[in-house]
Amino acid sequence: MRKIVVCGNWKMNKTVSESVQLAKEVVAAAQGVDKAVIAIAPTFLAAAKVADVLAGTNVKLAVQDIHFADQGAFTGKVSVDMAKDIGVEMVILGHSEQRQYFGETDELINKKVVKVLEAGLTPIVCIGETLEEREGGKLEDVLTTQLKGAYAGVSEADAAKTVVAYEPVWAIGTGVTATDEQAQDTQAYVRSVLKDLYSEALAESVSIQYGGSMKPGNAAGLLSQTDIDGGLIGGASLDAEMFLGVVKAAP
Ligand code: PEP
Repeated sequence: MRKIVVCGNWKMNKTVSESVQLAKEVVAAAQGVDKAVIAIAPTFLAAAKVADVLAGTNVKLAVQDIHFADQGAFTGKVSVDMAKDIGVEMVILGHSEQRQYFGETDELINKKVVKVLEAGLTPIVCIGETLEEREGGKLEDVLTTQLKGAYAGVSEADAAKTVVAYEPVWAIGTGVTATDEQAQDTQAYVRSVLKDLYSEALAESVSIQYGGSMKPGNAAGLLSQTDIDGGLIGGASLDAEMFLGVVKAAP
């Protein structure tokens, strides 16, 4: 049985005090909810304080990115050990905003995936196509290239410790969600690529999240699909009730 994993990506939202408050609200709303692995990813600035709120609860701490080096002259970056030290368990990697605005490549994402796995944390590997790519018939090529790139040199045993987030770029923050069928078909394809790269057993064991304007109103339909094992939630994760509404919509 694959785990349902729901992670809130707060992006560049909330001050430290607002983050602490929202984390408290998420913890309260998540009490006793065991349908999914629940995680939230605040900004780096707020992460340590949010960690204190999450300690001993069923909500895990995630971050939105990481650097692949151990330490040193990398202005503006945060290392895996620094994240691990405050209790981070999951790391979002290759988000389309990182790819689009900060030039993140599959090669760089791969270095980060390897580093996060080495540290024993869970990478959430984001992939997804633009509307132009989908309409241009390039959907499968784009996803295959992103997956091959992100998992280059990663052993099957390590790949089993990852989570994939399929996030169509055209659905992120737009209010436009992929239909249940579009998401299911694409995520089945993603699973078939994992099978080609590794094995059927591996492909069947990896949780594949959907991300892109997911909210309580559309979560039940998406989460009831065979190949959708949770969600990466942006906008709706900034409200504890909405975020938990998504989690509770899981079958
Ligand atoms: C995201 O940023 O990963 C995301 C899915 O955002 P939203 O839910 O706002 O579309």
